[in-house]
This record gives sequence, C-alpha cells and structure tokens, in this order.
Amino acid sequence: MSGSTNERPVLVLNAGSSSLKYQLLLPETGEVRARGLVERIGESGSGVADHSAALEVMSTRLRHDGIDLDEVPLRAVGHRVVHGGPDFSEPVVIDDAVLDRIRELSTLAPLHNPAAVIGIEAARERYDVPHVAVFDTAYFSSLPAEASTYAVPRDLAAKHSIRRYGFHGTSHQYVAQATADLLGRPLGDLRQVILHLGNGCSASAVRGGRAVDTSMGLTPLQGLVMGTRSGDVDPGLHAYLAREAGLSLDEIDTVLNKRSGVLGLSGVNDFRQLEQRLASGDADARLAFDVVVHRIKHYVGAYLAILGGIDVLVFTAGVGENSISLRAGVTEGLEELGITVDRAQNAARSQQARVISPERAKVVVAVVPTNEELAIARQTADLVG
Ligand code: AMP
Repeated sequence: MSGSTNERPVLVLNAGSSSLKYQLLLPETGEVRARGLVERIGESGSGVADHSAALEVMSTRLRHDGIDLDEVPLRAVGHRVVHGGPDFSEPVVIDDAVLDRIRELSTLAPLHNPAAVIGIEAARERYDVPHVAVFDTAYFSSLPAEASTYAVPRDLAAKHSIRRYGFHGTSHQYVAQATADLLGRPLGDLRQVILHLGNGCSASAVRGGRAVDTSMGLTPLQGLVMGTRSGDVDPGLHAYLAREAGLSLDEIDTVLNKRSGVLGLSGVNDFRQLEQRLASGDADARLAFDVVVHRIKHYVGAYLAILGGIDVLVFTAGVGENSISLRAGVTEGLEELGITVDRAQNAARSQQARVISPERAKVVVAVVPTNEELAIARQTADLVG
C-alpha cells in the first residue's frame, strides 16, 4: 500500500557546491520524517564523489531510520534555487528547458546556481517524480519599479538583466504569513518590516503581504552586514581596491563575500562566538556588533519611511530568533517610533513564534521562526497537486 497522496512525503533539497541539505516532510502537517546534511562532496578522502553519491548516502541513512522510499514513494522533490533572474517569479516544475535556464542564470549567481543544477540533475536521475524549483528571488519579483531599479544606464541594465532581485524570499514570505497568523490578523492589513538575520542577512518591507522593498540586490551581497559578507559599501570601493590594492575582480568578490562582515571586523563569523567575545570585553567584537546594529537600524528607518509607519517588526533566522542582545540593540532608542521590547519577554528562550513588545506598544515586535523547508515543500505540493 502506498497510502494516499497526503501521506506521501515531499523531499526538499538544498544543494551547495560541496554539500547537500535534505529534509523529508509532509507539507500538510509539517511533520518532518527525516533531515540531514551530506558534506565534503567531491573532496578527496570524503568517500562522497558527487551529488549522486550524496543522494545514495541520504537514502542509506533513511533506510537505517526505517524509511524506504520504494515502499512509500515520494510525492515530489522541491529544490531550493537561489537565483530565478528575470524569468522566474513563481515556483516551476522542472523540465529540460527550465534546467537550461537555471544553468544560464549562473552568470547572475556564480556561487549558487551551478550547485543547484548539479543537485537537480542527480535527483532527477534517481527519482522519477515531479521536480519543482523554488526560487529565493521569486517573492521579490513584485517589487515596485522604484525599489528594484538601479540608477544606471537603462540600456546597460536591460542588456545584462541588472536590477534588485532580493533573496531569502521564501523565508520572508513564510514569515510574513506566520506573523499574521501569530497576531490573528489578516495579512492584507499589516505593514511589516522583517529582519532575516542568519549567516546571510536581509531586511524586507512588506505591505499587505506584498514585498515592496528588500535589502539584498542583484546579488546576495548588498544590504545588511552578514557573517562573512560586507553588505553595503561605497560602489566606488571596487575600483579603488583594484587601483590601490592591485586586487583582481575575483579577489575583490572574494574579499567582500568571504572575508568581510562580522568575520572581517572581529575575526569570527559565528554570532555565538561574537557574543562570547563581547562578554569578555573584546573591542573588535564590540565594533562589529555596533556596525551590525547600526546597519539594521538604517534599514528599519528606511522601511518605516517607505511604508509610512509599521504595525510589526519581526526577527527571524538563527541570529534573529536567538540573540537577545541583538534584538535589544536594534530596538534600543526607537521608543519614540513606537518600537520597544519588554526586557523579560525578549530574554525568554523559546522556539515558538512570540510577541516580545509590551502589550500596548504602538508597534508589535515579534520573533517568528522561519522554516524554508516547509515553505518549499508546501509550494512544491501546491504545484504538483
Ligand atoms: P542561520 O543562517 O539562520 O542558520 O543562522 C546561523 C547564525 O545564527 C550563526 O551566526 C549562529 O551563530 C547564530 N545563532 C544560532 N543560535 C544562536 C544563539 N543561541 N545565540 C546567538 N546566535 C545564534
């Protein structure tokens, strides 16, 4: 017996160049049957030659846990794809043409899309079920033109698909709805600023469920200060580094993506380690923390102005959900704007979505855990029926 469709799980895959994250879950209930990570793919001595081998590792682990995908077949596979470019504003069932297009979009996301393509190819070979691509950029395809347009020559922008795309869209969309559910208010009534603060960080302004601005841009490098990414810098920095430091374009890209942000300022990229150093009075850690907070406030202020006031400020992802000090830092001094947190509620540890502002505060401040895998599984199931 293969059971009804509703009992058949969706496999969600997130392929990196040397890693494969997987989750097997039921989109209706959110029940997670299995989750895991295969790392060091393709590295010598790891025993995992490629992404096909990684899928084999995954299915061996599943069988160990009593899950046999031949007995309870998959309903579909949902793939996280970072860049959908100008083409994809919604999830799409993957055929050869779609796969070609995702591959072509590697020019916009050289660090991410090639890995997704490899993961999709391996999974399509192994699982004869519908495969769906869910794009990190899709939610922001509705940005108004004034928010998505860079003030560069229009012909150049058109020729090279230059615009603000935004990323973490699956998370922002999920959290916008989850926040409305938490507050028991219609999504359509809310003006939200959502802060997705993890290894990667982004902010969004959401009016009535529709994203109207976001901090990441053409690439996931723009905006907030991140674990290893600089976020906003003077666009003139690139030419300056090339001329004065003699760096090549690839070197500049690497410096800003991999050696900057919290890591570049403090020597550590993990926020827990940063907090430990803060506690021991480390001056570099202090500066890194202050720069992170300053940049977040910069965007909160901008989005307050763009939305003409907000109803709710939401913290999500690893740092946003867990760092008491960061939430305190970001909201400090914003009382006149109606934004404040209750000290005890902010300090309470919980995995649940929760409100941390005082009862009668003008703006609700909330912590809402994100769940990109569940969002991808749901969008995948919706599409394949
Ligand atoms: P993510 O990319 O959403 O998985 O978030 C990863 C980031 O969350 C890392 O910088 C972690 O250090 C940070 N993080 C996870 N747990 C905590 C915690 N309890 N306190 C502070 N930061 C945390």
